[in-house]
Amino acid sequence: MVEAPIFKIVRKSLNKVHKTLPRSSKFIIFNKSKMAKHPDIELDTASVFKSVIQMITTLDTDKACREHLERLRWNGEPICPHCGSQRPNHYQLKYDGAFNGLYKCKDCRKRFTVTVGTIFHGSQISLRKWFMSIYIFSSHKKGISSVQLSKDLDITQKSAWFMLSRIRNSFKTDVDFQFEGLVQVDETFIGGKNKNRSKDKKVEKTQGRSVKTKTPVFGMLCEGLIYTEVVQNTRGGTLKPIIRKKVKVGCTVVSDGWMGYRGLSAD
Ligand SMILES: [Zn+2]
Repeated sequence: MVEAPIFKIVRKSLNKVHKTLPRSSKFIIFNKSKMAKHPDIELDTASVFKSVIQMITTLDTDKACREHLERLRWNGEPICPHCGSQRPNHYQLKYDGAFNGLYKCKDCRKRFTVTVGTIFHGSQISLRKWFMSIYIFSSHKKGISSVQLSKDLDITQKSAWFMLSRIRNSFKTDVDFQFEGLVQVDETFIGGKNKNRSKDKKVEKTQGRSVKTKTPVFGMLCEGLIYTEVVQNTRGGTLKPIIRKKVKVGCTVVSDGWMGYRGLSAD
């Protein structure tokens, strides 16, 4: 009996896969800092808020946003990011009689807020706008431009660009994520010309457009979702394991007929 092939390969020329869109994932890690005292927290933005209306009404003030973040990060007991002390009764510092989320550690006596070490840290943009941009970002599968975001939130394009780059970098690559259906695969080489490189980075014995000076990138596209990965080389032994990991068994993989994929369906 012959076993059914794991992947079916269709050889066909296709348009080049786009390389720049963010990886699709609904999870976001708030804590990107190296501070070991704080565990990473993940927020499933899609399940926390069912709609943009629900989010706007729930997080209607910056105070509500801060308290929401405090619940997510600390679960009711503030954790000092400097020494790791967790207590329900760290000092709450008041400014003009009002508490705005500035704590003082009972142990190391340093000050902190809930945003220390998060993507919101050190930003002048209000938490409401941050939450809104995370929502907008995660609900636009095809990516959102900083021009559009700046209009949506009434902020400068520079701020929008800054927020988008922080948000994009925080989105976790979903390790369990797998493509289903018809998957297009493609590999390309990116990078500058050798003559434009600094002396120590120049690659010897190459001319003009040689791929020796460029970085190979492998891309997969399926129903508008894109996955890209920088690879060591474009040999079959490198690319095939990525396909096996990221594409569901039984799916059809479409390539431009490059030899590197040979044997994918056979073993
Ligand atoms: Zn402390």
